[in-house]
Amino acid sequence: MKDSYGRSITYLRLSVTELCNLRCRYCMPAEGVCKLRHDQLLTEEEMLTAVRAAASLGITKVRVTGGEPLTKPNILSICRGVARTEGIREVVITTNATLLAGLAAPLREAGVRRVNVSLDTLDPEKYARMTRLGRLDDALRGIQAALDAGFERVKMNAVLIGGFNDGEIPALAELTRKWPVDMRFIELMPMPGNQEFGPDNYIPVSRVLDALPDAVPEREDGVARLYRLPGAQGRIGLISPLSQRFCGECNRIRLTADGKLKPCLHSAEEISLKGLTEDGMRERMRLAILGKPECHGELSAERRSMAARNMNQIGG
Ligand code: SAM
Ligand code: SF4
Repeated sequence: MKDSYGRSITYLRLSVTELCNLRCRYCMPAEGVCKLRHDQLLTEEEMLTAVRAAASLGITKVRVTGGEPLTKPNILSICRGVARTEGIREVVITTNATLLAGLAAPLREAGVRRVNVSLDTLDPEKYARMTRLGRLDDALRGIQAALDAGFERVKMNAVLIGGFNDGEIPALAELTRKWPVDMRFIELMPMPGNQEFGPDNYIPVSRVLDALPDAVPEREDGVARLYRLPGAQGRIGLISPLSQRFCGECNRIRLTADGKLKPCLHSAEEISLKGLTEDGMRERMRLAILGKPECHGELSAERRSMAARNMNQIGG
């Protein structure tokens, strides 16, 4: 359905857990998060009911996210259920890939069409420092498994952080020559819990083009502006939530693991679906879509997101 500003809302980001096996500094606090009580979380059945309600309102694409979705014991069954929902044409997943080596093929069989993998650096020490817990090798093994499993597309996402990985832009971009993957650079977003980052860390994605003078523009793809390096198999994507907001093209709503619908990533507004019937969920979803704001406020090191949660509690 269309929201009050004429945008067709066709995309649901479904967070299946807040928990994660990593602790990326820009995403969640070192101590992790308070584990919600079991009865506060959506059950698998409630998630699938919400997806059915969403599909009946015109949602056709579902991204399964988290926290780390692959830490969820019933992740394959959730993905299979979403993929079988009438009206849902695309099921995709976002993961840090550290558990993907053993799950890539089963996820593909469960009906997941594409995978987005988060990878901010190719330096094992920097990877360990930024994720606090992770090993780069595990992620690389997961990416290789995704490439072998026959997904329609594998995209890589790097959060661009001044003083951390801006010197690695050419090396990360080279992955599009080595593998048939898109490499997307995303501006760091100032969420409530990542206050350790200062003005120097927030750099615009235009820096990517400064570092890649050979990149040739291609068409836009959703929120990403696309480029290609000569001879590359995949594309370079620039996603600019700070320097060039894309609210006018926003086609998405979000559902958190504890059942809160978020009409806008950077607003504190949340609408609970927990415990409702499919009809009840559909009605609240309809109201949430109609109440989706036209745009969120400006974001910068000084002007933080109004979201009342960190990214692991939203799903990106
Ligand atoms: N654990 C999975 C992963 O890392 O891909 C899925 C959940 S994670 C919250 C989804 C995406 O949000 C990741 O690509 C991550 O890099 C991105 N993200 C988290 N915090 C962010 C921030 N402050 N600014 C920009 N992107 C962020
Ligand atoms: Fe976990 Fe993903 Fe957040 Fe990193 S970005 S802490 S992998 S949820």
